[in-house]
Amino acid sequence: MKINFSKYSSIKIGPTADVLVIDESVKIDENVFIVGGANNLLISNNPPPLAMLDKKYDFIYIENNSLHIGAATASGKILSFAKKHNINGFEILQKLPGQLGGMLKMNAGLKGFSISDNVLFVKTFDRVLTKEECGFGYRTSHINSLIYEAIFEIKEGFDTVLFDSFKKARTNQPNLPSAGSCFKNPEDDFAGRLLEECGYKGKCLNGVSFSDVHANFLVNYGGGTFEDALTLIKEAKNDVYKKFGVNLELEIQIVDKSVTSKKI
Ligand SMILES: Cc1cc2nc3c(=O)[nH]c(=O)nc-3n(C[C@H](O)[C@H](O)[C@H](O)COP(=O)(O)OP(=O)(O)OC[C@H]3O[C@@H](n4cnc5c(N)ncnc54)[C@H](O)[C@@H]3O)c2cc1C
Repeated sequence: MKINFSKYSSIKIGPTADVLVIDESVKIDENVFIVGGANNLLISNNPPPLAMLDKKYDFIYIENNSLHIGAATASGKILSFAKKHNINGFEILQKLPGQLGGMLKMNAGLKGFSISDNVLFVKTFDRVLTKEECGFGYRTSHINSLIYEAIFEIKEGFDTVLFDSFKKARTNQPNLPSAGSCFKNPEDDFAGRLLEECGYKGKCLNGVSFSDVHANFLVNYGGGTFEDALTLIKEAKNDVYKKFGVNLELEIQIVDKSVTSKKI
């Protein structure tokens, strides 16, 4: 299938590329990059081979008092289900865009809560991983293969107070196309604060800019390119290192044949 990533990705940058659609449990080659909802990706014009899950992995149901969710299920659908069935632990999904597979791989979350909080098992091609085996950490996991489904413990009581507080926390986010937080927060500090102190809040390069609403959101005003975004990211990372000695780690995933997030 051909996907135009300048439309599909949340930051609206990327080429039209062939994407292999996976509709059965198969071993995926290590050099293939798995695309979920593309809410955390910066895709170049020279990407590695790409694959994504078929819509048949978009499901959510309760069985034997556990919650089964397909990895292609969108966060909004999971949140609605949790609200309707009075299930606790998915309140963070308010305005957190993604599919379950991408959210688990990144261990997406907010304010100390994350998608992995109530996970029991994660199904991959040949294994059913326990939560411990997944190695969930701050915006990371040890899951290195395609996720098909996850099973969650059901905890009763959708928390409307928590839900409202997450909703409020979203008010300082830009409404422009972005890929969420650009850098991970370093321990006991905020990437946004460091960027702001280095003059990056609102700093533009052609169509790409660090947001003037929240410095750690890289936004696309329109016409922004992969190269613009990468240049701005590298400059910001260097300047923060020079001023504070802090080596910011990218949260956004770079999807390119030769550049990886870790190499920047
Ligand atoms: C406006 C906005 C707000 C955001 N707010 C937050 C926030 O509060 N907290 C937060 O944590 N993130 C946030 N994000 C980032 C993003 O929502 C998360 O990283 C989310 O987990 C991305 O899911 P995705 O399906 O889009 O994954 P993608 O961006 O497509 O992929 C992300 C990673 O997951 C891998 N992946 C995708 N699907 C699978 C699969 N089935 N199996 C194995 N690996 C897979 C990819 O290879 C890649 O490494 C925000 C993004 C935006 C645009």
